[in-house]
Amino acid sequence: MSRITDLLHSIPADPLTGALTVPVYQTSTFLQEAPDVNKGYDYSRTGNPTRAALEKIVAGLEGGTAAFAFATGMAAIDAVAKLLKTGDEIIAVEDIYGGAYRLFTEVYKNFGIKVHFVNTTKAENILDYLNDNTKLIWLESPTNPTLKITDIRKVSEIAKTSNALVVVDNTFASPVAQRPFELGADIIVHSATKYIGGHSDLVAGIVVTNTPELDEKIKFIQNAAGGVLGPWDCYLAIRGIETIELRVRRQSENALKVAQYLSQRPEIDKIYYPGLSRHQNHEIAAEQQNGRFGGVISFSLKDDTIETATKLVISTKYFKLAESLGGVKSLICHPFTMTHASIPRENKLKAGIQESLVRLSVGIEDPEDLIQDISQALQQLPHTEIKNED
Ligand SMILES: *Cc1c(COP(=O)(O)O)cnc(C)c1O
Repeated sequence: MSRITDLLHSIPADPLTGALTVPVYQTSTFLQEAPDVNKGYDYSRTGNPTRAALEKIVAGLEGGTAAFAFATGMAAIDAVAKLLKTGDEIIAVEDIYGGAYRLFTEVYKNFGIKVHFVNTTKAENILDYLNDNTKLIWLESPTNPTLKITDIRKVSEIAKTSNALVVVDNTFASPVAQRPFELGADIIVHSATKYIGGHSDLVAGIVVTNTPELDEKIKFIQNAAGGVLGPWDCYLAIRGIETIELRVRRQSENALKVAQYLSQRPEIDKIYYPGLSRHQNHEIAAEQQNGRFGGVISFSLKDDTIETATKLVISTKYFKLAESLGGVKSLICHPFTMTHASIPRENKLKAGIQESLVRLSVGIEDPEDLIQDISQALQQLPHTEIKNED
């Protein structure tokens, strides 16, 4: 059976009524026949049938043994960090998602947990920091916003020589493009706010595990700390997952067309998209993402100023100016002043976040309309005509 057929038919009919859509079990508590005699549920923090359905579907989608749904992607990341104790160390990809950076360096640091940020585009670089205290190797691939690629298989092989677990934040690739367990990872996290939800209508997070031991540990943390996803949002996430294969395929195809168009425009300086053969880790991305490069593209302008980038991001019609990514409608943002505003200027520049960097999240619209939209916005920039002539 193909994965898409498998996925759709892993969405269960309701065992009680036969409803073909997973019902929203909007209840905090469950009737018990006698103390501790129940139908498998007693309290919705511990377990809820709508959440259980979502968790089972995502576990299947990632090829794991269990999944756990949280109120946000950050709550999912937090649940994994709670596996650690004082004295433990994390090796993290250097351009880690800003929220995870903040959580590790401003919350977990206070509990005596050390984080080393490493350029993992060369897998061997982690050897400089790997020691007996290293408990997690935290990867994102592609990264935000400059789409750097890490060879997950290579890092996992190095990690196997230690006690460290490899965690992959698979948000940007989505489970459709990249299956980290097949590459040797131990834990997968998602901001389901992005491609899993897919419609910019919820915030949610998922942890996926792959051994009975880790299943138990994360389940314990989920119930103990309690940052669970509510039943309505679980329903929305399931509804989103039904079309994830179609969406991500279309978004990847559209993004490649937009990236190819952008790479010919005279106004563009650097372009970051793993689907372009000029991307420094294109081959690894092609292999580990099954030829799907996702919907996110970043680029900088030759006129490298905040003013010109601002003019561009307010001039598009279909690319709506907003943070986030992965939805069916295209978005545009200016990381320097938006998603990465709180990071000091020098650190931004070091990470390739130039003043003119623009990030696109390509949706499922007609690619010709999207290209037309970018084209008319670029025409509005100062000096465009002069540059076109030389
Ligand atoms: C958005 C995002 C998160 C955080 O998820 P929220 O749902 O916003 O809490 C974590 N990692 C990555 C890569 C993200 O893009």
